[in-house]
Amino acid sequence: MHRLRLPLSGGCQCGKQRYRITALPLTLYACHCRECQRQSTSAFGLSMPVPREALQCDMETLASWHRTGASGRQVAARFCPECGSRLFHEPARNPSIVNVKPGSLDDTSWVEPVGHLWLKSAQPWFRPPENCLTYPEQQPSFEALFEARFREASSRSSV
Ligand SMILES: [Zn+2]
Ligand SMILES: [Zn+2]
Repeated sequence: MHRLRLPLSGGCQCGKQRYRITALPLTLYACHCRECQRQSTSAFGLSMPVPREALQCDMETLASWHRTGASGRQVAARFCPECGSRLFHEPARNPSIVNVKPGSLDDTSWVEPVGHLWLKSAQPWFRPPENCLTYPEQQPSFEALFEARFREASSRSSV
């Protein structure tokens, strides 16, 4: 098990868009809803919320697309105009955070979801690992996901 080191750095697939993150992520979870499956064109999406002020990148040079979620609220999706890699989601419900897509990090060795959301639409072969939070649909609140990430981070830093 690897520990993360700040600042985190990452970028898009073609390498034109780069970013840095100067604070610990608030949590990291997998979402198995149909929207995340479609967005990632894969089995599930990974989300890593970070405080907005901790994200350093050139938002101006990213392309964007807006989606209205099931709740009726807007999510701004930011991606590289060159290669199309999705890098960030900005939920209108919480402007103080940005959801980073952690597959874009340079070092993904420590990336491990503390929770799995929307398991009722997960691929039938998927089994969540033991000792992580699981939800059939949306999580009722972010508190448990934040706490689980914090516990994991502190257990690793004491190694
Ligand atoms: Zn790119
Ligand atoms: Zn989802």
